[in-house]
Amino acid sequence: MRADIETDILIVGAGLAGLIAAATLKGAGHDVVVASASAPPRDPQSEGADRRSTAFLLPSRSVLRRAGIEVDGGTATPLAALRIVETGGRPRHVISERTFHPDDLGSEVFGWNIPNARLGAELLDRLEALSVPLRIGAGLKDLHAREDRALAVLADGTRISARLIVGADGRDSAVRRAAGIGTSETRYGQKALAFPVRHTHPHANVSAEIYEQGGAFTTVPLPDADGQPASAIVWMADGPEAMRLAALSEAELAAEATERSCGLLGPMTPLARPGLFPVVTRIAERLASRRVALVAEAAHVLPPIGAQGLNTSIADIAALETAARTDPGAPEGLAAYAAARERDIALRAGAIDAFNRVARSGSLLAHTIRPAGLAALHDLPPVRRALMRAGLGSAAD
Ligand SMILES: Cc1cc2nc3c(=O)[nH]c(=O)nc-3n(C[C@H](O)[C@H](O)[C@H](O)COP(=O)(O)OP(=O)(O)OC[C@H]3O[C@@H](n4cnc5c(N)ncnc54)[C@H](O)[C@@H]3O)c2cc1C
Repeated sequence: MRADIETDILIVGAGLAGLIAAATLKGAGHDVVVASASAPPRDPQSEGADRRSTAFLLPSRSVLRRAGIEVDGGTATPLAALRIVETGGRPRHVISERTFHPDDLGSEVFGWNIPNARLGAELLDRLEALSVPLRIGAGLKDLHAREDRALAVLADGTRISARLIVGADGRDSAVRRAAGIGTSETRYGQKALAFPVRHTHPHANVSAEIYEQGGAFTTVPLPDADGQPASAIVWMADGPEAMRLAALSEAELAAEATERSCGLLGPMTPLARPGLFPVVTRIAERLASRRVALVAEAAHVLPPIGAQGLNTSIADIAALETAARTDPGAPEGLAAYAAARERDIALRAGAIDAFNRVARSGSLLAHTIRPAGLAALHDLPPVRRALMRAGLGSAAD
């Protein structure tokens, strides 16, 4: 079939992962084209801009640097400590708490928090500077994979032939479906609310995970807003409770967020309506098929705990960069990519699944285990270090 465009690598999907993959693979010397149903808006204040932020952990820094993004510069907020708090009772109060410092990992910070919309805008500028063509507005309709190339047909009829097609098209990946790759899925009956707030007490660059039945309430430091300290909130709750919270007025949400966080950051004021995200684990049964590789949420959707989602995706992109070095999409490279990533993805998904089940459980056993587990984390340095490395990434950068 005749192609309208020929390239080394076609990336389907222009979410953060697709844009990072495009900048990385173009930087490695490949011809790259991006095709996507939509892309992040360039203006972070515009309608439809993603109001979430992403905490990037240490191992992601070098990959983002190769993509032309300085994750530790400019408006990034360093994550200088992690405070884990157990709350409960009526009136709600702090039951136990511990603070972890990155010096256990031989570093001054755990990572950096960046608003998604700002990162999206920076990545779009970077791709423009690299002259990477972006075909936005027509999703993938069909995919035909042959021995030496694959052909993608977009909804507007454009045909793009590539040696490698990278599925970075999110949790309902059309590339994954077209390649005949199934998924395994765990639903938890939870949803996550995400919204930025300003608050009266300084966050001191400390991120807090506040645990209670239903899930974690996480605060991640942001730059000041309207002259006041600000944080990103990710609030996990059982589905009906999350729906109730999402429907509250701004004043009611402010009051409930302040109460749920036991006033640790002082009174909170939401800076945007909350986005609502289903909490699932969804793992692709394979990461590659003929001339096709899956990355990011097309390959793995994880609950938003421990900042694992996009950091895991960045590890995918680094492995794909290595695997694509000679002939992108060659069978041996794709096999090497799958082998490099499958075990790590399974380990992270298993750990987050187990942690989420314990964290959201209201059972007596969990109530007993959680503080004890946190105490063990804090008081036994070797165990703590091992868990921090597993959960938060290694400091080897
Ligand atoms: C509340 C919350 C907080 C989070 N916090 C963190 C964090 O702190 N750290 C972290 O590492 N991760 C975090 N994550 C995870 C992270 O946000 C996701 O992993 C990431 O946004 C997913 O990016 P993606 O590019 O894979 O998918 P998406 O952002 O979904 O992008 C998919 C792209 O594919 C396009 N597309 C879809 N269908 C088609 C099609 N048929 N054809 C062509 N294009 C198509 C879409 O238009 C879009 O551009 C968080 C997640 C949530 C829900």
